[in-house]
Amino acid sequence: MLEDKNNERTSLAKLGEFGLINHLTKHFNTYHSSTIKGVGDDAAILDSSDKQTVITTDLLIEGVHFDLSYMPLKHLGYKAVMVNLSDVYAMNAEAEQVTVSIAVSNRFPLEALEELYAGIQLACDTYKVDMIGGDTTSSTKGMLISITAIGRAVKEDIVYRNGAKPTDLVVVSGDIGGAYLGLQVLEREKQVFQVNPQNQPDLDKYAYIIERQLKPEARKDIPKLLKELEVKPTSMIDISDGLSSEIMHICSQSEVGCKVYEDKLPLDPQVISTCEEFDIDSTMVALSGGEDYELLFTISIDDFDKIKGNPHLSVIGHITEKSQGINLVTRANQEIPLKAQGWNSFQE
Ligand code: ADP
Ligand code: MG
Repeated sequence: MLEDKNNERTSLAKLGEFGLINHLTKHFNTYHSSTIKGVGDDAAILDSSDKQTVITTDLLIEGVHFDLSYMPLKHLGYKAVMVNLSDVYAMNAEAEQVTVSIAVSNRFPLEALEELYAGIQLACDTYKVDMIGGDTTSSTKGMLISITAIGRAVKEDIVYRNGAKPTDLVVVSGDIGGAYLGLQVLEREKQVFQVNPQNQPDLDKYAYIIERQLKPEARKDIPKLLKELEVKPTSMIDISDGLSSEIMHICSQSEVGCKVYEDKLPLDPQVISTCEEFDIDSTMVALSGGEDYELLFTISIDDFDKIKGNPHLSVIGHITEKSQGINLVTRANQEIPLKAQGWNSFQE
């Protein structure tokens, strides 16, 4: 995981707005020739050439989307970039630029923003993305971060949510449910800590699922892999709210139904053991967990041989006619309708 260093406290007022922006942004690299002008003028300039431009944005609010009592600021910066890149990759496009806007209250010293930007920069360097601008302002309470990601792809490569056809296979990358369980572990430890601050938790056995929650990785490799395999998905979406709700988005936009097989859901052994410990059903976690940032897509059945046995990909079901509904086929071979129990920001 990422290291945190936070001993000194320099007031933001000391630098002034321009000093602050310069201080936070001066070490960023530029990777793409499409970036003509980044930070420093009234607006950034991009050269989109003959490709189409993909734009996506996310707003993260302290206390609603993140909890700084267990989310180190460096991880937060990294994750805030990931959630946006994930949306670009879900369009089968290449992410090239991000803008970063923040609002902070005077409770945050300069060192806190340095940590946040260290995470943002690590994400930009790892994923080869240019940070081209943003906005900085104050808030009366807490921290807000809004990131916009910009990607590009030739028109023919872009994959929408609405192209799934009956008989297509439903495929998911990686494994699912870990991020949600990591959050459960962190929430539990936070409560233990509040009762007994002396208690030092041993989180080693949860390392993978905590990492899934605190340092998710967007699947930049999957569009690349599919291109190499010469597979163009018929539809694609990233798993931010939970597999179940993402499948429902694909089915409703494509006007189809589907069957997802319980015994095909890809689960890490740590997800299974932690589900046993918490006495929760691993299928529920896989379907409704959310925040895994894996890609869910459909491919023509003719492409099955090209992806068969690939360690990054699991076929979890197939698309049906709309009239057949959206169903989970259980291990006992029963069909039950899937519900969008994926995380909803307006729910309790
Ligand atoms: P303006 O007053 O025209 O909005 P700013 O002073 O806010 O300009 O921004 C100056 C430059 O710094 C712009 O290029 C802007 O995109 C960039 N910038 C401002 N805030 C941030 C930030 N938090 N992160 C990255 N770049 C920023
Ligand atoms: Mg501004």
